[in-house]
Amino acid sequence: MKVLKFGGTSVGSATSLINVKNIVESEQQPVIVVVSALGGVTNQLIEMTQLAMRHDSAYEAILAQVRQRHLDIIAQVVPHDRQHQARQVVEQFIDGNLTSHYSILCLNNGLNHTEQRHLADTIVCHGEILSSAIVASMIDDAAPYYSPSFIKTTPDAEGKPILDEALTEQLIRQVLAHCGHRRIVLQGFIAQDAHTGQATTLGRGGSDFTAALVAAALNAEALEIWTDVDGFYDSDPRHNPQARLLQHMTYAEAQRLCDAGAKVIYPPTIAPVAARGIPVWVKNTFNPTAPGTLIKG
Ligand code: ADP
Ligand code: ASP
Ligand code: MG
Repeated sequence: MKVLKFGGTSVGSATSLINVKNIVESEQQPVIVVVSALGGVTNQLIEMTQLAMRHDSAYEAILAQVRQRHLDIIAQVVPHDRQHQARQVVEQFIDGNLTSHYSILCLNNGLNHTEQRHLADTIVCHGEILSSAIVASMIDDAAPYYSPSFIKTTPDAEGKPILDEALTEQLIRQVLAHCGHRRIVLQGFIAQDAHTGQATTLGRGGSDFTAALVAAALNAEALEIWTDVDGFYDSDPRHNPQARLLQHMTYAEAQRLCDAGAKVIYPPTIAPVAARGIPVWVKNTFNPTAPGTLIKG
């Protein structure tokens, strides 16, 4: 079994989603697919929260754009017989949940700070809920699962959610190890407080970490991080035209570059897979035949 994670750009357009479908469906062995929100959507969800908290109804125009983008993508990539169901997801989560959450934030100044924060966390999880529903409906034989039912956090001394490692590992095994599905689609990034059930996240860029936790708990054959560049470079290829692609790296080298700010992998991702010796591939969704980077011990 392999875990394949697709980032925001990889699930951000009809063209890239077709690539995702082809990559996943060409796998002969069972796969777990972890997806980010459509590129830019998490930022928009946060921006709308900030506007609504300032009682600025300008969020409504952004929400209409986000809604239309999801509907357009569904119309372009989801097979006809599954489009109705996919549109219902948009109705439930955008026309229903998000519309109501934002109007509560915008209208109600009686919410205390904790209530506002909880609503903001609930809102930001919707990007992955929507993208995973689209991806699951376009891939043949895909079964969607809800990651917060096994990715659990607990508050640290300042109230910031941190992963409950032992519980998460146990629940991933319990829910996914023997579920019998050949292709599972999960939301990256989103989690749940182990005690209260409140929506939490693993932090910005956290979908990589979700994928690593699942790969480690299930002792996957490999973790593949599918992104928008050909692999791990010695510096950001978007800012440095001289950047060199690294074909092989050790976990320690990858960790060092991630800690130094290489955005291609979220830093906490390396430890769980390194602990189990699971190889990590960094590959380009837009150039799938390129060899990519292999990270191992
Ligand atoms: P995703 O949405 O797939 O998670 P990210 O934007 O989080 O993608 O990470 C991919 C981006 O990381 C690339 O587009 C690239 O600009 C940037 N990046 C920064 N440092 C590096 C590096 N050393 N190697 C590769 N990409 C890097
Ligand atoms: N969608 C989340 C973010 O933008 C998580 C991720 O992309 O990994 O931070
Ligand atoms: Mg990322």
